[in-house]
Amino acid sequence: MGMALQRFLDHVFPRYCCFCGEHLRQSIFRYLCDACAAQLIPIREPICKRCGHPLTFDASCPRCARYTFDFEQLRSAFPITRYSRQLIHNLKYKNQTHLASDLAQLMLCNPLMKDFLQNGILVPVPLHWRRYFWREYNQSELLARALAAIEPSISVRLLLKKAHHTRPQVGLHSQARQQNVKGSFRLNTKIAIDRQAKVVVIDDVLTTGATINECCQTLKQNGFQHVYAATFAQTVRFKNSSLN
Ligand SMILES: [Zn+2]
Ligand SMILES: [Zn+2]
Repeated sequence: MGMALQRFLDHVFPRYCCFCGEHLRQSIFRYLCDACAAQLIPIREPICKRCGHPLTFDASCPRCARYTFDFEQLRSAFPITRYSRQLIHNLKYKNQTHLASDLAQLMLCNPLMKDFLQNGILVPVPLHWRRYFWREYNQSELLARALAAIEPSISVRLLLKKAHHTRPQVGLHSQARQQNVKGSFRLNTKIAIDRQAKVVVIDDVLTTGATINECCQTLKQNGFQHVYAATFAQTVRFKNSSLN
């Protein structure tokens, strides 16, 4: 977008930071001021090579110690903190779909993510049509499309669909979560894709990983050889947590 057009639009439709309400003029983010964006501390090395959980220098991964995964690797840009949770919450439940581009921009600002997503075919975690009907959009798909809009080597394919309705994962303990999503995804056979392609299942958050893993398992069972996963944020558990 040209600067003159941007200035005109900013005059007619002023933009404000979704956290502090500051009037925004120049920022790479649309609805986030630079000061608030700086509150989001990206996940950096050292991390677990498998699930992307941050590690202290001698520790093993607390997530992989508890769960096994079907993806080759997963990466998240941020730990779940007050700020990242609020952003996701606004995108998911407050109809602030315009935030998707800021979330995508924030993700790609993390060098860890930029390399990881390069040349990837993003596969959003599908929403069942009944929930889609109420919410009218799938936040994972919005995020995927926003990433592809910024990074030309990234594409989006709706390779998975929800086979039956499952109750929301919120409030279920980890074993119940696995049971709840078991066998709930199907391959969308209308889309033909090389089984050797790099496919990246994408979602807003990773908690236990049950939903994402079920998606990855479905892709592997259908012959995909290189299955990865990525989320905007993930829960992290540090022994002496200074986050949040
Ligand atoms: Zn702000
Ligand atoms: Zn791990």
